[in-house]
Amino acid sequence: MVHYLYIHVPFCVAKCDYCDFYSIPVARTGSDEIKEYAVALLDEMALRREVAGDLRTVYLGGGTPTLFSAEEVSALLSGAREIFSIVQGAEITIEANPGTITDRQLAGLREAGINRISIGMQSLSGRELCTLGRSHNAEDALSAVKSARQAGFDNISLDLIYGIPGQNMEVWQDTMLRALELLPEHISAYELTPEENTRLHTRLANGFYELPEEQLVIGMYYEAVRMMQSHGYRHYEISNFAKPGCESIHNLNYWDRGEYLGIGAAAHSFVNGMRTGNKRDIARYMESVKNEVMPVDEEIYVTEQDAFREMIFLGLRKTEGIDLDTIAESGMSLKKSAVDELAGHGLIEIKDNRLRLTTKGLVMSSEVMVRLM
Ligand code: SF4
Repeated sequence: MVHYLYIHVPFCVAKCDYCDFYSIPVARTGSDEIKEYAVALLDEMALRREVAGDLRTVYLGGGTPTLFSAEEVSALLSGAREIFSIVQGAEITIEANPGTITDRQLAGLREAGINRISIGMQSLSGRELCTLGRSHNAEDALSAVKSARQAGFDNISLDLIYGIPGQNMEVWQDTMLRALELLPEHISAYELTPEENTRLHTRLANGFYELPEEQLVIGMYYEAVRMMQSHGYRHYEISNFAKPGCESIHNLNYWDRGEYLGIGAAAHSFVNGMRTGNKRDIARYMESVKNEVMPVDEEIYVTEQDAFREMIFLGLRKTEGIDLDTIAESGMSLKKSAVDELAGHGLIEIKDNRLRLTTKGLVMSSEVMVRLM
């Protein structure tokens, strides 16, 4: 039985220039498409009633889930309670984009049972927000956090991005400092990755924009770690920082390779050792659930070898690393020569029976993990 539920909301006010997630632009809250989609989500939950139960987390992500009205979110959570049941004290998160939330909606979300809000602040520089093609300005982001506090949210997470074209260390420090002054419980700091088929990628390819030098971007990561830690945040995952006890329970389950159920168009699930992906097209997704057919497009059976790789790739994202006994119990092993070499370069360390990446290793985590396998 799965205890972690993800609900995907693939609508956004407009497409950001760096985004390659499955999301489509829609009119604001209240459009018929959004209403119909909310009903389809409830239909899918009913189809999956045997899979999940006693939910410890519910995560509404996207896209922009705050394009749902508070009433729609309330109906979804009531459905989840009725169909799966949600344990007392469960972490119930919604992702929110500045500019899409009102005071009334925030109060309604609290009332519906949402107790954690993750706000897509990204930057507090107007120029950078424009480069990213975000549909909000810095003032919207600051006032979204203040409004969330006033509505009673005591678990607020902020998303920030570094490595933006034209960004320098001073502007990055300024964004972080102003974000920290808002005293969020949690901060995620992601390096910008220019994915293909995005407007940003085209502008970089055309030479219209240029990414900051690699050494500067690495310096920005170290600076994020330094500033967050000096403000009392625990660096618990490559890109995530939390006040003690405010780590994301939902995301920790992913990194612990726990199973979860994903509902909605393009949502992924990991259930009974199988990874599946839902239809990426909203119309095909809705038609499928309406006809009481599982809206699954993709099924991947996870072999023992895959499971081992996932354990290493996901587990080493956490700064506490992986228990060596867990590695031994899997019946597989890491390349001894690579472990020795990487440890010699100060990229990994073994301490208290755990294998972990050092901060230097986290900077080049992908390369380190590939070497280890
Ligand atoms: S708000 Fe998020 S999901 Fe939507 S387009 Fe922007 S980055 Fe993508």
